[in-house]
Amino acid sequence: MTSDTSIDIAIIGGGIIGICAATYLAEAGRSVTVFDRTGICEETSSGNAAAFAFSDVLPLAHKGMIRQLPKWLADPLGPLAVPPAYLPSLLPWLIRFWRAGAAKHYEASVAAQAGMMKLAEAEWMGLLDRSGTRPMLREDGSLELYESEAEFRASLPGWAERERFGIGFRHVEGEEMASLQPGLSPRFVKGTFVPGWKTVADPKLLGKAVWAYAEKLGARFEHARIERIEAGTNGATIMLADGTTRKAKQLVVTAGAWSHLLAKNLGDRIPLETERGYNTTLPISAFDVKRQLIFSGHGFVITPLETGLRVGGAVELGGIERPPNFRRSKAMLEKAKRFLPGLDPSGGREWMGFRPSLPDSLPVIGAARAPGVFYAFGHGHLGLTQAAATGRLIRDLVLGQNPPLDLTPFRPQRF
Ligand SMILES: Cc1cc2nc3c(=O)[nH]c(=O)nc-3n(C[C@H](O)[C@H](O)[C@H](O)COP(=O)(O)OP(=O)(O)OC[C@H]3O[C@@H](n4cnc5c(N)ncnc54)[C@H](O)[C@@H]3O)c2cc1C
Repeated sequence: MTSDTSIDIAIIGGGIIGICAATYLAEAGRSVTVFDRTGICEETSSGNAAAFAFSDVLPLAHKGMIRQLPKWLADPLGPLAVPPAYLPSLLPWLIRFWRAGAAKHYEASVAAQAGMMKLAEAEWMGLLDRSGTRPMLREDGSLELYESEAEFRASLPGWAERERFGIGFRHVEGEEMASLQPGLSPRFVKGTFVPGWKTVADPKLLGKAVWAYAEKLGARFEHARIERIEAGTNGATIMLADGTTRKAKQLVVTAGAWSHLLAKNLGDRIPLETERGYNTTLPISAFDVKRQLIFSGHGFVITPLETGLRVGGAVELGGIERPPNFRRSKAMLEKAKRFLPGLDPSGGREWMGFRPSLPDSLPVIGAARAPGVFYAFGHGHLGLTQAAATGRLIRDLVLGQNPPLDLTPFRPQRF
């Protein structure tokens, strides 16, 4: 067994959350080493839908979603699926998820998420400038589409909620809708345009570019699978799969959907599940999509990227072990072809990623019960959106500074 006592701050997980935390700490002059078993933004943070969804403040377990549940669950390739064999393991999480949608929790959750989103936008805009990645930002808004008056009307309470938090939007139809996205199927009768919605040119390329900036500031990367962590008053011990160990004065766990396994080593039991999501990235020539198109009734989006046209979404509550079921990607692609009749569905690359999700749709950001250890994971559908804010908050916590946000709703001990 070898050990290396030189690490100041170790970060486990090189997804978008880990690299943003590393960047903020490196900017503050701290020495940081990121550990990852694959690479920088090579897993969930590589293939997501690329949205800076700053206006997405409603918890997943909101009324609109609960109303859709029976229809969705009836379709095995629909927007939400639970493999029957996984249901018993999932049940405790599902009960908490259901409870999170109750009126008394809902209001506090929306307020916490709205506060986080305000910080998220400000921090990303600053980080994009400092890291020289601002040209990767796309500010062309999003268009959510409805197939019936009834579906449109059902969306209105959600829009009224967003309005309370100053989120701008405009309901559109007819020529205006067609000019926002030419070539749409006539099945869509109404839409909502959100001008402030932003996307990035490619989430993986953005992550790698931010990391290049962090490396210039001195952040380091070590390619390793972490088997176990321990922590005490003298710092943390990190055990690698090759049998070696590393010591670190402080430790940040940003291991996405696998974070709870490491937290358990330290005695913290956190109900982290994964909402597996699927997509297909088509060649850029597949269709001229003007901005992100959102089909909430079908649980998927189409995002025009610099590197292709990404079609996907959906939620499969199937855990971290089960192999992917790419029939789900295909089902969304078939629908996309119906929604944009001119779309060429050939030549795509299929992908599955693990959204790290907590039952109340808020991430865990805060100190572990062990000294010198911090957690930042569980961002669910919003990890790209909230990564810079999380980096900023982790920097403040590690440096012992006051964070700009009340972190009570995000504390790891809330469950
Ligand atoms: C289909 C889909 C669409 C999405 N669209 C959006 C979107 O448009 N906007 C948005 O904001 N979010 C979106 N998300 C969510 C977003 O992708 C995630 O919230 C985010 O990527 C999570 O980042 P992370 O750094 O926490 O986890 P990850 O990116 O999974 O990174 C965790 C890293 O930890 C490493 N790791 C884990 N355990 C160990 C270990 N023991 N040893 C070493 N390394 C380890 C893994 O290798 C991985 O690289 C989407 C997700 C999916 C699946």
